Amino acid sequence: MDTTAFAYAGMTGNALIDQLGADVSGRLLAFSRMVHLEARETLYAPGEVVRHVYFPAGCVAAACAADGGASVETALVGREGLVGLGAVLGERRARELACAVLPGDAVRVEAAALRTLFAESAVWRRLVLRFYGAHVRQISRRAVCNTRHRLCGRLATWLLALCQRADSDDLPVTQETAARQLGVRRAGVNECVADLEGRGAIAHRRGRLQVLSRGALTAAACSCHAPLSEEARWLERVAV
Ligand SMILES: [Zn+2]
Repeated sequence: MDTTAFAYAGMTGNALIDQLGADVSGRLLAFSRMVHLEARETLYAPGEVVRHVYFPAGCVAAACAADGGASVETALVGREGLVGLGAVLGERRARELACAVLPGDAVRVEAAALRTLFAESAVWRRLVLRFYGAHVRQISRRAVCNTRHRLCGRLATWLLALCQRADSDDLPVTQETAARQLGVRRAGVNECVADLEGRGAIAHRRGRLQVLSRGALTAAACSCHAPLSEEARWLERVAV
């Protein structure tokens, strides 16, 4: 899709961009393209030069801490945020792994243009720093979640976070993807999927996980669900 097809304030589908006034979003969109990201597509690997920042507008992406060949998800990013925060703040190379979890569109913007905008626009700076604060809080919460909470609760919370960002109860994610993102063995995820199916919360079929009852899934979720969900909602409704 060409830039001109969505170069209107409030039209991209990403809340960070759409909260900006037409003058600032126009400057940002002048250096952008709408792109489609595939599931599991790697956006950055540690050490790579970050030339573009991604604003999800349909896809859901993740930041992951890499350790050798393994990685574990530290934050999900949907239409409420951006991927490539370090590049906006001045870092040239990625420090962590970023990938798409759910396929879909994203507004891809040149990182250099966003650094210039960060220096020149107080409105953009305020929005980025609000997202930065929320992103750090999500990573902190995920650290607690990853080390202290039982896998079935973590899986339920993760699925609810995907539903919220995708606006859908039908998630094109496999159990293998869930295991990789949560940094656990596939067998553990299989057991939890069976447990959640027994509760009538989800069903799995042909490489998809479908949420049948958000209420039942919320009841199975760990205590991270409420604060993580509220944080994502807050980012979407913040006015600058
Ligand atoms: Zn948790």
